[in-house]
Amino acid sequence: MVLRFAVIATWLALLSPGFAQERIQVVTTTTDLRSLTEAVGGDRIAAVNLVPASMDAEDYQPKPQDVLRLKNAHMLVRVGLDYDLWIDRLLVQAGKREIARGGPGYVDASFAIAALELRGMSVGPGDGHAHGSGNPHYWLDPKNAEIITGTILEALARIDPANAARYEANRLAFLARLRVKLVEWEEKLAPLKSTPIVAYHNSWPYFARRFRLDFAGFIETKPGVPPSPAHLAGIVKTMRERGVRIVVREPHEPDRDVAFVASKAGASVVILAASVGALPEASDYISLFDVNVEALKSAAAR
Ligand SMILES: [Zn+2]
Repeated sequence: MVLRFAVIATWLALLSPGFAQERIQVVTTTTDLRSLTEAVGGDRIAAVNLVPASMDAEDYQPKPQDVLRLKNAHMLVRVGLDYDLWIDRLLVQAGKREIARGGPGYVDASFAIAALELRGMSVGPGDGHAHGSGNPHYWLDPKNAEIITGTILEALARIDPANAARYEANRLAFLARLRVKLVEWEEKLAPLKSTPIVAYHNSWPYFARRFRLDFAGFIETKPGVPPSPAHLAGIVKTMRERGVRIVVREPHEPDRDVAFVASKAGASVVILAASVGALPEASDYISLFDVNVEALKSAAAR
């Protein structure tokens, strides 16, 4: 009798809409990976990001509730390349094998990405990246979204094979949209080909390679440390010599040194979003590029 009741209860659970709609809980370290995971997972998943868009993930201080979020997650998506090293400690604290390194729900989105600026074990050239794993801002090449969403698709299909075809269709639809946009972005940025640009932080090598931009220097030399007067003087010199008319900063970066070099060299300051949500209009992965492309295009026209 008890057994029969259990069988009936299981059937009821399977037939109830609540069961059918139970979504896969995903934690991503960044907003960019959340947007790309949502593009593949659609309404089958519920994703949260740990690092707020207004913050630099490289300097993020994890919160106690982050461990709780990981405990409830079926899947974790991280940037890797030493960008979100703090997640390793949180994964140990959460103690959930499913999403631990090597588990079915563990996704390092840098897998299969060709990293730029690899430096081996040597000390970097002082662009604000302390580690030798390569520049971690690889999501800023929209072509890399093909690889990232491919890795995400594999994990979702592993965790939820019943919906694998759906995830695959979502991904293909997203990539089709992205391909159309990429042509548009390339056309809009074509006039900036080889235009020298200075940026506060070196977030842009992947973006620059895709759109043939030329980043001639970086104001930040060490994360969180104001640049020295000598370094700023060197940047101003480079800007004058090379005719740099655009200085880029991200919304969370300090304005003072950016404004200083721009005024000394007669350049204009352009605020770009290096992550989804860093500017209000950059609300998803595709609008992130829309916003940045428009900002650069109008700065070049000035
Ligand atoms: Zn960085």
